[in-house]
Amino acid sequence: METVLIILGVVLVVLIVGGGALLAPRARRRGGAAPPGAPPGQRGTATAAPTGAHAPAAPETGAAAPPAEITVPPPVPAAPSAPTPAVEQPPPSAGRMVRLRSRLARSQTAFGSALLSLLTSGKLDEQTWEEIEEVLITADMGAGPAAHMVSRLRTEVKVAGTSNVAEVKALLRTDLLEQVGADFDRTVHATPHGDRPAVLLVVGVNGTGKTTTCGKLARVLIGDGRTVLLGAADTFRAAAADQLETWATRVGATVVRADREGADPASVAFEAVSAGVSRGVDAVIVDTAGRLHTKTGLMDELGKIKRVVEKHGTVDEVLLVLDATTGQNGLRQARVFAEVVDITGIVLTKLDGTAKGGIVIAVQRELGVPVKLVGLGEGPDDLAPFEPLAFVDAMLG
Ligand code: GDP
Repeated sequence: METVLIILGVVLVVLIVGGGALLAPRARRRGGAAPPGAPPGQRGTATAAPTGAHAPAAPETGAAAPPAEITVPPPVPAAPSAPTPAVEQPPPSAGRMVRLRSRLARSQTAFGSALLSLLTSGKLDEQTWEEIEEVLITADMGAGPAAHMVSRLRTEVKVAGTSNVAEVKALLRTDLLEQVGADFDRTVHATPHGDRPAVLLVVGVNGTGKTTTCGKLARVLIGDGRTVLLGAADTFRAAAADQLETWATRVGATVVRADREGADPASVAFEAVSAGVSRGVDAVIVDTAGRLHTKTGLMDELGKIKRVVEKHGTVDEVLLVLDATTGQNGLRQARVFAEVVDITGIVLTKLDGTAKGGIVIAVQRELGVPVKLVGLGEGPDDLAPFEPLAFVDAMLG
């Protein structure tokens, strides 16, 4: 009996000690879980934080938006694709046009090769000259410049009395260079004014490559040693702001954006420049809405953006983005924008996808404003400062 009592006692002790041991980890686990479990609200703030890093609280809101909306992350942020990527250092922009000139191969075949074979055929009669003019017009050079070039070439070829390929090519090269305009000032003005950043407005119709150009331009400037802030004033397309953030994240730049679609673009532009001033960046690039709804609407929108931004000082560049593949349609767009706002430079995108490189000549003639940058591909560093010599050499092969 005594033995039975001892055994029962031991079992009791084991049960008490074992039960305590089993309960203890559970209690510890509960304690450990407490901090992450306790502030689910705080986790929400944490997700908002990275967004805030790219969209600083104060400048982000449009004038009408209450401050509380500022920290709310955008509805579909680009966060999933942003697992802290390494910041890239883009290459300097100098010499890009030369490096990328093979991208103009389609223009070169349709233009240079066709012209050279006609000019050196040894049979320069009236019909051949008409064909030459047609080649120039087909390349979107425009009827006026084409007629001018043919008449000049006719005299030059006659005087030189040659059908030698190298000599004819040299004549063509000089004439083309003159048409393209070797003397235009093609500088992209992005130098700060004391403690105020340079301001570059980027305008153009949706689909031309406007937002992509803003991202690529930021890389061009950063590659050339400048600091940049991007303003997502195309508030009618939420994807545009997300797109800009993706570009900016890669190069460690900041984006100022609205917290909601349809916010006042002028407010975003203003806040972007304000943020640029307070952060001491060299240049602020503002992406604008590209809806060509009505001329008055466009005029109101761009006019307001420009006026509001000018409260900080002058706008250094108004760059019009045109899709080189759209030909006459692109020229029509150029005309409308030029009536609405003072364009200071043209960015001709998708020049890699067209045989119509002559558009460079036509659009400059149309607006009296130089092509300053050209898009030669979809790669991040496929935006090049326009170099007339490299362009003409690429056209002639
Ligand atoms: P947005 O609506 O004017 O802002 O146009 P996006 O910037 O969204 O660009 C429209 C499309 O054009 C995108 O697929 C770009 O990758 C493409 N794109 C932009 N620039 C170039 C270029 O120079 N060459 C080529 N091939 N595609 C380009």
